[in-house]
Amino acid sequence: MTMSFANGLAALRPRIDAPVAAFLSSCVRCGLCAEACLFHTETGDPKYAPIMKLEPLRRLWSQEFTVMGRLGRALGLSKPMSDEDFARWEELVYDSCTLCGRCSLACPVGNDLTLMIRKLREGMVAAGHSPEGLRKAAHRALTDISPVGVGAQSARKLIAAQSREVGIPIEIDKHGADWLVLISSMEYIAFPEMLGALARLFKAAGQTWTIASDAYEATNVGVQIGSCDVARAIVARTVDAAHRLGVKGVVTPECGHAYQALRWEGPNLMGQAFDFEVIHLIDLLDRWRAEGRLKTKGKSGLRLTYHDPCQTSRRGGLDPQARRLLNLVAEDFVETSDPGPWNWCCGGGGGVSANPRARDLRFKVFAAKKRQLEAVRPDAVVTTCSNCRNVLEESLEHWGMELPVLSLTELVAEYLDEVPS
Ligand code: SF4
Ligand code: SF4
Repeated sequence: MTMSFANGLAALRPRIDAPVAAFLSSCVRCGLCAEACLFHTETGDPKYAPIMKLEPLRRLWSQEFTVMGRLGRALGLSKPMSDEDFARWEELVYDSCTLCGRCSLACPVGNDLTLMIRKLREGMVAAGHSPEGLRKAAHRALTDISPVGVGAQSARKLIAAQSREVGIPIEIDKHGADWLVLISSMEYIAFPEMLGALARLFKAAGQTWTIASDAYEATNVGVQIGSCDVARAIVARTVDAAHRLGVKGVVTPECGHAYQALRWEGPNLMGQAFDFEVIHLIDLLDRWRAEGRLKTKGKSGLRLTYHDPCQTSRRGGLDPQARRLLNLVAEDFVETSDPGPWNWCCGGGGGVSANPRARDLRFKVFAAKKRQLEAVRPDAVVTTCSNCRNVLEESLEHWGMELPVLSLTELVAEYLDEVPS
């Protein structure tokens, strides 16, 4: 699609539906969303208040969808929207929002600000005002499957290496497997040992799984940049692979946005319900725990705390599952302040960590997470999103904090009682 101001407006108008109109007209300007957003609390800059990030959407709604707004515009009392408005808001809409959902939770009148920022991004993309890093990642995801350039051959090599490491075959394109498992970009490039942990866990649980040669990547950069067209193409790839392989379900990995994209946005993007189950890895492990399939032995003696990924805990409801699994393998699990749905974001979700321009800002706002961690003095922090894991590692290093970051899945795999040969 050609990117232009006119296309931006054309893409944004249909997003202003009844819920958006209701949200915008019911804002009482209380400021509670500002107090919930780490970009505002950690910088003190009023421009980072979530409701301010929505200004282009609010102006378009007011000027074209309300009687008073239309009148004001006709009388020349309000300035028409311009390309400059989109350009000026790019930093606010992308660099200072992780789509974490905390503002939506805080709003006393139920305004879903996160949904509106996601919708606003549709207009920004069409207008040509989205970050270059995300645009390149979206292009790579469409042409090469992986947004970070992990080609099919490289993925096969990483899978084979991990299979050899744990001595368990990992089959690609196995027709009729129980589960099709997606792997995130970050796992391929930074945490490939996750593949070995998966092999051990599925073997121990007595379930079969496979990775699709044409849908081996979980990350949905379309959701992050805010393009339904890109997001739909990526979801369709997984849906086609699930049908081709005849699996009963698709497992999304330790990646928050991949879960959000496939589990919640996926059926809406495709215009129909899926005829297979979509489950997050942590939910599946907790199910196996409850069914007695996951037998562990011993526990970590480390003082462990948990970082709730926004898309799995706040927006996905998987916070109890993660804690049940943690208590299975941790002797000394300690909660930070604001645990579960109210936890603070790592600062790098929603495409922020894929946007080099936002690097300094995300390190600055990590101060909220740093305070939480310092207060409980853990030996390590555990999480269930590989993007959070990478952002936590980078940010802890930036702040000079030595604190290991662990994957919950890998931790559970480490304490498996026995893996049948
Ligand atoms: S979704 Fe999160 S980062 Fe974005 S405005 Fe709301 S609280 Fe801030
Ligand atoms: S919390 Fe809700 S009502 Fe209050 S300023 Fe934010 S959007 Fe408006």
